[in-house]
Amino acid sequence: MACIFCRIVSGEIPTNIIYEDEFVCAFRDISPVAPVHVVLISKDHLERIDTPGVEKIAGHVILAISKLAATLGLSEDGFRVVNNAGKYGGQMVNHLHFHLLGGRHLEWPPG
Ligand code: 5GP
Ligand code: ZN
Repeated sequence: MACIFCRIVSGEIPTNIIYEDEFVCAFRDISPVAPVHVVLISKDHLERIDTPGVEKIAGHVILAISKLAATLGLSEDGFRVVNNAGKYGGQMVNHLHFHLLGGRHLEWPPG
């Protein structure tokens, strides 16, 4: 299995999973760009946010973000959720994932 996130889901790459439900799981990014940087992924290998079938997990993604933000102490000051899709979006791992970023003031617009 080549996909790095599928290997994390299967347990082949040991990773500290900080949240999971039936459809999604989350772990700290290996290369954080903010004091809090969590990667929330689909357990199934869906390539990106516009892949057919994503609608089945969309509610789980939103709920996971809400729970993670609360448990990681991001609710009061706020946070950002990022989904990179494709070449221009800067997607490096072709397995659906969302970045949850917080713990500092984040600039806008992105570069
Ligand atoms: P993308 O650029 O595709 O939106 O984001 C992929 C993210 O996954 C990057 O921020 C990268 O640091 C993170 N990442 C890639 N491989 C691993 C890994 O093996 N473990 C963890 N924890 N994060 C990873
Ligand atoms: Zn995958």
